[in-house]
Amino acid sequence: MSRVYNFSAGPSTIAEEVLQRAQDELLEWGKSGMSVMEMSHRGKDYVGIAEKAEADFREILGVPDNYKVLFVSGGATGQFAAIPMNLLRGKTSVNYVNTGIWSGKAISEAKKYAEVKIAASSKENGFKTIPARADWKIDPEAAYLHYTSNETINGVEFQEVPDAGGLPLVCDMSSNILSRPVDVSQFGLIYAGAQKNMGPAGIAVVIVRDDLMGQALPITPSIFDYKIQAENGSMLNTPPTYNWYLLGLVLEWVKQQGGLATIEEHNKAKAAKLYATIDASPFYANPVEPVYRSRMNVPFTLAKPELEKTFAAEAKAVGLVSLEGHRSVGGMRASIYNAMPAAGVDALIAFMNEFERKNG
Ligand SMILES: *Cc1c(COP(=O)(O)O)cnc(C)c1O
Repeated sequence: MSRVYNFSAGPSTIAEEVLQRAQDELLEWGKSGMSVMEMSHRGKDYVGIAEKAEADFREILGVPDNYKVLFVSGGATGQFAAIPMNLLRGKTSVNYVNTGIWSGKAISEAKKYAEVKIAASSKENGFKTIPARADWKIDPEAAYLHYTSNETINGVEFQEVPDAGGLPLVCDMSSNILSRPVDVSQFGLIYAGAQKNMGPAGIAVVIVRDDLMGQALPITPSIFDYKIQAENGSMLNTPPTYNWYLLGLVLEWVKQQGGLATIEEHNKAKAAKLYATIDASPFYANPVEPVYRSRMNVPFTLAKPELEKTFAAEAKAVGLVSLEGHRSVGGMRASIYNAMPAAGVDALIAFMNEFERKNG
């Protein structure tokens, strides 16, 4: 077996210990006589697995008691629609901050249900920064303020939770959840697809404050209605049971790493090394304003763009894969989520230095 260092933006690398454990338990979970995949989601064994995952998630992130944690299908993209349907609560407009391609997708979907007001945008600037909070225009009549804490494609990350001007703050945390401690009480709702930092694709987590539930638009599909899902323990219908179990294994791994404060230190160190390599070189460049650079997704360009394909191919040959940038922006991108070991980043840096020496 030869596992590579996988820099994919998502689905992305999963800690080997997690995969090993899943393999050990694949044919028979505990003394159940069956795989987790084969269990009834209403049975005692599976309910135990699901409840343990929720308890670990709450513990790791310090989720206060007045928030529900939902495990749902439909990815973060499903939430782009579910959020306005659930949170409008009699209002007609919503505020969005546009800091990159994922914010843009959330905005397009919200427009089907509400009048979207752009509180701030870095589009004109090519999504290389985050507009200063003092310049945001928040409509106080809007139902909530939405932002994307880490722009997976553009490599831009909020380093602090922005002040929502008294509105419920809603955050797409898909690509940086569990990468650092977060004060959940500052938010009305947090959502994230699992396939970046929490495990396999096919399941998403929604953390929603109790008072924001129960006023969904009448057209809201029941599976997207937070109140109904909360009342049913996220099991209104058959949930993605195996993905939920795998997510639980990732959460146990996060705890074994020492929790989010320790993970944050590792992530800071990994990102700092990689950006330092880029900044020290005339051959590589990252366009993002340094204070807003993402610790999770590091896009970079080559001084000779015609060498991008060669770069990716030669990297692949030494076991460093999925370094191509997103199809919409080009260039290269290294995603260095929680599960990317420091040794993987070191190997990438060594490769970059050598590639520059040969081609710079
Ligand atoms: C990946 C990603 C999404 C989309 O997730 P899906 O699960 O594919 O719907 C949304 N927002 C951000 C920030 C992402 O990184």
